Amino acid sequence: MPTSHRGGKPGSIRIDDDRKLTTPDFSGNLFFNTIGNLMHDPRAGLLVIDFDSGDLLYLAVDAEIVWEGPELDSFDGAERLIRWRVHEVRRTARALPMRWSGVQYAPQLAKLGSWNESKITQAATNTWRKLKVTKVSDKAPGVRSFYFQAADGSTLPAYEPGQFLPIRLHVPGLAAPLIRTYTLSDAHNDRYYRIMVKRKGAASTWLHEHVETGMEIEAKAPGGAFILDRTSDRAVVLLSAGIGITLMIAMLNSLLADKSGRAQPEHIHFIHGARRSEEHPFADELKAAEQANSNLSVHLRANQVDVTHGADSSAGRVDIAYLKSVLPFGDYDFYLCGAGSFMQDMYSGLCSLNIADDRIRFEAFGPANVKRTASAAPALTVAKPVVPRDLERSSKVVFMRTHRNAQWSPEDGSLLEFAEANGVEVASMCRSGVCGTCATRVLSGDVTYPIPCEGEIPAGQALICSVIPARMGSGEESQPSY
Ligand SMILES: Cc1cc2nc3c(=O)[nH]c(=O)nc-3n(C[C@H](O)[C@H](O)[C@H](O)COP(=O)(O)OP(=O)(O)OC[C@H]3O[C@@H](n4cnc5c(N)ncnc54)[C@H](O)[C@@H]3O)c2cc1C
Repeated sequence: MPTSHRGGKPGSIRIDDDRKLTTPDFSGNLFFNTIGNLMHDPRAGLLVIDFDSGDLLYLAVDAEIVWEGPELDSFDGAERLIRWRVHEVRRTARALPMRWSGVQYAPQLAKLGSWNESKITQAATNTWRKLKVTKVSDKAPGVRSFYFQAADGSTLPAYEPGQFLPIRLHVPGLAAPLIRTYTLSDAHNDRYYRIMVKRKGAASTWLHEHVETGMEIEAKAPGGAFILDRTSDRAVVLLSAGIGITLMIAMLNSLLADKSGRAQPEHIHFIHGARRSEEHPFADELKAAEQANSNLSVHLRANQVDVTHGADSSAGRVDIAYLKSVLPFGDYDFYLCGAGSFMQDMYSGLCSLNIADDRIRFEAFGPANVKRTASAAPALTVAKPVVPRDLERSSKVVFMRTHRNAQWSPEDGSLLEFAEANGVEVASMCRSGVCGTCATRVLSGDVTYPIPCEGEIPAGQALICSVIPARMGSGEESQPSY
C-alpha cells in the first residue's frame, strides 16, 4: 500500500463540516503517484500525528480531486485541492513512543498559503455578500431564472452540483428580511450563479415582480449536503417533478461538462414529470444533449401534452410503472427531487423493487416529508411528535453566549427566526432542517420539532431552524447556547 506525506503550513487542513476536509496539494516529485492512485481508487486512509502528545488520528476517507476553480485560485501555491469525505475516525491516545519539540518548518512553506489567509475561508461561508443580478429570463410559466455575479467583481465561491444558495431579500414594508434557499441550477462555472425560482409565496413573488438586471441581493456562500456521489460509476437516474428539475439540471450539466478524468456514470437517465408539457423548462436543451451524448437518455412526461410544446413529452404521470418501462434492468444510483407526494411515492415504489436504501437519495424543497423505511432510517434522524400550536403557550428563551433573553410565543416561529428577530446572529443555511448548519446546543429545557426533519441532529443539540420550545409554561426556560 503506497504511503505519501502531504504537508503544508499549520492551517492548511480545512474542516468543511462534520464529514468533510479539504487540503491543498502542492508541487511534488511530478510523478503524480498519489493523485493517480486516488483517481484509480478514491478510498484512502489519513494519519494525523500530534507530535506533542503522541496521539494518532486515523481517518477512513474517499478522495475527490478539485482540479480548478476559485477555491483553488485563492490558496497560494496550491496546484490542486483534495476533498476528503470521512467515513470513520479513530483516535489512539499517546500511541507514539517518541515526542518532538522545537518544531522548525521547512523554508519552502513560507511561500505557501493557509486557509486562514485564503480569500475564501469557512467564515466567509456564513457572511452575507452582495450579488448583482446580471440576467433574468423566463424558463416556463411561473418559473424564472436569475443570474448573479459578485457585486465587487470578486470570484464566486465554488459549489457542488446539488448545493443551494441562501439569499436574503430586504423587502420594503417588512420588518425582517426574507431569507430563502434556492438550488444552483447549473454546473459550477467562474462566470455566474444561476437559480430558478417558481412563483409561490412572499420571497419568490418578490423575486418575480421586483428583481431585475442590475439590482443587488445578498447571499451566503453555497452549501448543502445533497450532492452527486462522484466515487460511484454506476448508472444514475436523475428523477424530478416540477421545480425539482433545477437540481437535476445542475447535476446533469456538471456530469456532461466533467473533464477531470474521474469515473463517469455508465449511463445517465434524466426523467422529469410536469403537469403540462409547456412546463418543461429545458425540453430543447435536454433533447439536444441527448443527441450529443450517447450515454444520456431523456424521458419527459406530462399529464397534459400540448400540441405546440409536446413534441418531446409523452403523456402520463411519472410513476413506478413508467420507471419500469423506461429503465433497463440494472444497478442504479437514484437522485430524487420534487413535491412531497411524488418523492414519497417514488421512494416507496423503489424500495418495493428492492432498491437498497442508500441508492435512493432525495432532497425536499422544504421540510422533508419522505419517510424512509424504519430499518433504513439514518441513525441520527429523530422524528418528533407533532405538537399542536397552543396560542396561550409562551416560554422564556435565554441565548447564553450573547446573554440575551426574550419571551417566545408560537407566532415567533422557529427558534432560528426568534433568535434573528432578537438580534442573535446564528449560522444557518437551508432553514428546513436539511443541512444541519444551525445545530445549536440546548443547555436546559426541551425543544420539539413540529415537522420531523431529515438532517442529522447531533446529541444534545437542536436544528433551531426547525424547533420550537416544547410544552412549557411561561415560567420555564429553554436555553440554546447562542
Ligand atoms: C434546499 C432547498 C432548495 C430549494 N431550491 C429551490 C429552487 O431551486 N427553486 C424554488 O423555486 N424553490 C426552491 N426552494 C424553496 C424556496 O426556498 C422557498 O421555500 C419557496 O420559494 C417559497 O418561498 P416563498 O417566500 O415564496 O413562500 P412563503 O411565503 O414562504 O410561502 C410558502 C408556501 O406557503 C404558501 N402560502 C404563503 N402565504 C400563504 C397564505 N397566506 N395562505 C396560504 N398559503 C400561503 C405559499 O403558496 C407557499 O406554497 C428550495 C428550498 C430548500 C429548502
